[in-house]
Amino acid sequence: MTQPIGLYLHIPFCKSKCAYCDFFSAPGSERELDAYTEELMRKIAFWGRRTPEPVSSVYIGGGTPSVLGAQRLCKLLKAVKKNFFLQDGAEITVEINPESGKALNFDLLRAACFNRLSVGLQSSNEKELKALGRIHRAEDARLTVQSAQEAGFENISLDLMLGIPFQTEESLKESVDFCAGCGVKHISSYILKIEEGTPFFKMRNTLPFPDDDKQAEFYLSAVSYLKEKGFVQYEISNFAVPGFESRHNTLYWKCGEYIGIGPSAHSFYHGERFFYPRSRQAFYQNEIISDGSGGDEEEYIMLALRLKEGLDFNEFEERFHKPLSPVVLKKIENYAKLGLMEMNGKSACFTPKGFLVSNTILSDII
Ligand code: SF4
Repeated sequence: MTQPIGLYLHIPFCKSKCAYCDFFSAPGSERELDAYTEELMRKIAFWGRRTPEPVSSVYIGGGTPSVLGAQRLCKLLKAVKKNFFLQDGAEITVEINPESGKALNFDLLRAACFNRLSVGLQSSNEKELKALGRIHRAEDARLTVQSAQEAGFENISLDLMLGIPFQTEESLKESVDFCAGCGVKHISSYILKIEEGTPFFKMRNTLPFPDDDKQAEFYLSAVSYLKEKGFVQYEISNFAVPGFESRHNTLYWKCGEYIGIGPSAHSFYHGERFFYPRSRQAFYQNEIISDGSGGDEEEYIMLALRLKEGLDFNEFEERFHKPLSPVVLKKIENYAKLGLMEMNGKSACFTPKGFLVSNTILSDII
């Protein structure tokens, strides 16, 4: 049976650059936004001709897709519908920055069949937002979510960040309360990573960044406080009201296939991984770089264990036509004794404490 695929479109524009950001994005003029939209539509047609599989989810991310405005976003979705076989009820997400989100025509997006929004809040605390170099205030996010809800969007996610300079356990809880108060159904909560080459990397010794122990405390406290507020953890950094888990991202974690279009966008298709380089010019010139084959046993285990439901032993056996190796099972059993993993006869998963050291454990297991 043909498995559905996901489709990712990357929008490499942002109004200004946040101090921690390593994503491929830069400011763009109106002319550049138009030219990029046209190019993306050409590439959508190109990939649509090569992919007969049904598409179960579309995700427009960035950068800041909302800087394109509703009309350009709708044009892109129209091109997707024309060139791909979009399943009925497909999840169609667009990322929104609260600053450009306020002025967005959500009625137009809803009419075009967008049905999920991911809004980059990061924190409801103004001092923390300023430290991150964000250009919006918490109130902008609240107004954005409210306008979207009034236009009929029910499935809305807010991003929160852990480990921001000046953050305290109390301010973190206030941010969670803020999200819950907005009535959103999904929260992504990532630990801040200081990437080389970003302004934060230069400021790493001058700004009051929480240390690793503090970050771990924030993470565990976020997991339990989010649960209290009705957001169930379904992935290392993702929490949802049951039934509102991100289907697009879950496809990645279940090692499903997808096409990514745009500079820096990655694809996994017909067992091969490949990507567009981090350059708009290279994208316009159709440069694609092969990343070898993907979806092997190690990768499958690593991705499955990001999910709270974890690694299903039967699904592994069905996919690879052999059971999980006794060596791997023994190691998982040992980590379960330490309270870092949980295991029954059918599956294994990380505990919240285990998620914190999952990279180390995974490099030992596989
Ligand atoms: S808005 Fe998002 S993509 Fe743009 S600079 Fe900030 S973090 Fe990066």
